[in-house]
Amino acid sequence: MQVNRELFDLVMAPNYNPAAVIPVKGEGSRIWDQNGDEYIDFAGGIAVNCLGHCHPALVNALKEQGEKIWHLSNVMTNEPALRLAKKLTDATFAEKVYFANSGAEANEAALKLARRYAIEKFGANKTQIISFAKSFHGRTFFTVTVGGQAAYSDGFGPKPQDIVHCDFNDIEAFKALISDNTCAVMMEPIQGEGGIIPANAEFAQTVRELCDKHNALLIFDEVQTGVGRTGNLYAYQGLGVTPDILSTAKALGGGFPIGAMITTTEIASYLKVGTHGSTYGGNPLACAVAEAAFDTVNTPEVLEGVKAKSALFREGLEAINAKYNVFSEIRGEGLLIGAVLNKDYDGRARDFLVASANHKLLTLVAGTNVVRFTPSLVIPNEDIEAGLAAFEKAVADVVNG
Ligand SMILES: *Cc1c(COP(=O)(O)O)cnc(C)c1O
Repeated sequence: MQVNRELFDLVMAPNYNPAAVIPVKGEGSRIWDQNGDEYIDFAGGIAVNCLGHCHPALVNALKEQGEKIWHLSNVMTNEPALRLAKKLTDATFAEKVYFANSGAEANEAALKLARRYAIEKFGANKTQIISFAKSFHGRTFFTVTVGGQAAYSDGFGPKPQDIVHCDFNDIEAFKALISDNTCAVMMEPIQGEGGIIPANAEFAQTVRELCDKHNALLIFDEVQTGVGRTGNLYAYQGLGVTPDILSTAKALGGGFPIGAMITTTEIASYLKVGTHGSTYGGNPLACAVAEAAFDTVNTPEVLEGVKAKSALFREGLEAINAKYNVFSEIRGEGLLIGAVLNKDYDGRARDFLVASANHKLLTLVAGTNVVRFTPSLVIPNEDIEAGLAAFEKAVADVVNG
């Protein structure tokens, strides 16, 4: 059956508006569309394809597991899930893992666990959840309400209760909000969708201290920052602030859907048998691919490589900016990079994305004012250079109207 973009509007729910081209093949940081046109991929499936497209280690894991066993349900455990959980706990602060299928589900589990923990341990009034303006935590009703953009949670009727939002990096505002009724604080170490906004170290440290003082759990949403994205396995390790609960997804499966919530033994003990669950969570196929991705990313070569590639990216973007003067700032960490548009180009991030696509380069935006780059963590340096050359042409197009 021949299919094309027009069919999308006929048979798909209209909640997305995808690009005109339909990619059919990917290899490394290159993809090809139905017409055979080749693109350089600086988007990485929104920080998911941490090893590019069709990385041999992931393809092998998928094929091998695909011929063994695909699914069991949580009535039985399985080898890939056990191995992945062991590796996640060995490499982080955490001692226990709950597997889900997406970032939103990992966060949903984190929030439900935090509520259980606080209510059972400290009483029925300890239910307040603090999160931050512009934060993004997923699209289930709980996570989207905790997220800091009301536009995403409005219009669906009564919302989950006792959720408040604070300005990010505003220590005084945070101090004024937190109390003994605070159950948990959810934050991204670097806000992704909100515009690649890093938490400053002093702020993160203060949040940690005040959580401890008020017996509130600190939940780090590392769905976008995790699994090597920042050059650390998890961003908390670079920030020097350890959460009580951490959610991870996106790059965790390198393109295969999986998420996880990880925490300590003490906190996890409140997630008793029957309190929460998922049909597919911990699925052997997903865990086998994630294990291969994790083994590949969690090496000094790849993590150091992220830092080196980040420097290359930033130099290139600064050089483009020196010529065309379009950005006020290049921010982020590792290969989570945001080029912030200056006043002259305010609100026009999408124009840069469209112009890039015209030059066969895939980029992302984060809000209306930031061009976002989340390429493969192992993108070859030649592809970075070729992609930046295409981006320079795109910038010239926008500047010259
Ligand atoms: C993408 C993202 C999510 C949601 O993940 P899904 O897999 O789309 O549910 C949650 N939090 C952050 C920080 C994200 O970037």
